Amino acid sequence: MISSQIQLASYLFASILFILSLGGLSSQESAKRGVLYGIVGMAIAIISTVLGEGVEGQIYIVVAIAIASVIGLLLARKVEMTSMPQLVAILHSFVGLAAVLVGFGSYLDPKTHELAGTEHTIHLVEVFIGVFIGAITFTGSIIAWGKLEGKIRSKPLVYPGRHLVNIILLIICIVLAVMFAGAAGTSGMLYLYIMTAIASFIGVMLVMAIGGADMPVVVSMLNSYSGWAAAAAGFMLGNDLLIVTGALVGSSGAILSIIMCDAMNRSFISVIFGGFGAGPTGPAREVTGDVTAMDHEEVAGLIKDAKSVVIVPGYGMAVAKAQFPVYDMVQKLKKSGKEVRFGIHPVAGRLPGHMNVLLAEANVPYDIVMEMEEINDDLSETDIVLVIGANDIVNPGAEDDPNSPIYGMPVIQVWNAKDVIVMKRSMATGYAGVQNPLFFNENTNMLYGDAKASVDKINGFLQ
Ligand code: NDP
Repeated sequence: MISSQIQLASYLFASILFILSLGGLSSQESAKRGVLYGIVGMAIAIISTVLGEGVEGQIYIVVAIAIASVIGLLLARKVEMTSMPQLVAILHSFVGLAAVLVGFGSYLDPKTHELAGTEHTIHLVEVFIGVFIGAITFTGSIIAWGKLEGKIRSKPLVYPGRHLVNIILLIICIVLAVMFAGAAGTSGMLYLYIMTAIASFIGVMLVMAIGGADMPVVVSMLNSYSGWAAAAAGFMLGNDLLIVTGALVGSSGAILSIIMCDAMNRSFISVIFGGFGAGPTGPAREVTGDVTAMDHEEVAGLIKDAKSVVIVPGYGMAVAKAQFPVYDMVQKLKKSGKEVRFGIHPVAGRLPGHMNVLLAEANVPYDIVMEMEEINDDLSETDIVLVIGANDIVNPGAEDDPNSPIYGMPVIQVWNAKDVIVMKRSMATGYAGVQNPLFFNENTNMLYGDAKASVDKINGFLQ
């Protein structure tokens, strides 16, 4: 057992470590250190909470933590890098569910009803809001998991008057909150259950209405919601550290969502309310024309002749785990005096920063990894662009087809280079489900096949 002063000091120390952790995660060089701060902070947080005054049945808590840690370790080891977003989404749903359960438990706890007057009302409001945010996070994250896993189609599910329906449901929840706060003893449980059902429905519909290019924002937004759900649980449990941690996650997730909206030229409000405002009014433009393909030797020949090479990786590079041979290729090309750089789109892959993580894993130096805005200006001076497993992020339709689901999203303008090689297995569409006119351009050649196998073969010709 530790005294409440020591617990407070530990909480303060853990909070500082969490802030340092977030700071560390803001750049690739310091990310590992950031993760370490987070792990140490969380260990201190858990130990000082479990050993705190008034906590009983430590043995059960330790057993539960041990079992959960083993499951977590096995899952994290097993999961492929490409399935990380789904794992993150499902973990967010657990935070939401935890907030709902803590809310139910807190309301049913007899100690809650020993409180009187304003203190009692404030606690009931905390419970109601906590369960509300928790339920939205829970079901919204499950839908996001389904969309990322491909179990639910990514196309937005919208119906006329849905915003009105959401507003009416919100008003019903406010009425239920008033009835809940006025209910004697635990008789308000029914109102809590009804509100949970409504909030769960809102969570489903909010995320179902979002699709195409807006999904990355949903992932970071649900991250933010899960933070607020944790903060709400902190209020219900009277745990200061949980409030601080939840607020850190909630606000950093919100900031990330805004940054992603900016990068994708989307309005934050429009995204969080599920496509508020004008969407496509007709089907995306039909793409016609001829597609030309090359074999590995021909592509290697083009690369040999080029002075400047830009590599644009996407989700397919992650699937194929092609980052390692890609870096071998970079080293070969640099040795022969070519300028080689990477162009990274902010939503390439399935997770913010997905490509940066993969390239760091393959030891690609950061100084040749450019952001979209930096590389776009140089593409007209570039001899060859190798698009490796990317599709939506290099789709010119995002610029010139108002009916495209990704219209308005800035893209890497690879078509401005002298030659473009697209490495993918087929003519299949990407995440947003739209055909890519780039593939039909005269200066584009397809190189069909798995990205890793293709790069390996090209490397063979570059010896
Ligand atoms: P896309 O999903 O648009 O395209 C990936 C392409 O990779 C596919 O067309 C596929 O074509 C190809 N591919 C798959 N496996 C392989 C393989 N083994 N070898 C070679 N190619 C392969 O990915 P992008 O990165 O271009 O764009 C990201 C998309 O994901 C955007 O629409 C974005 O909005 C969305 N998104 C992004 C999130 C984020 O935070 N980054 C989160 C959620 C969604 P083929 O089958 O023919 O091989």
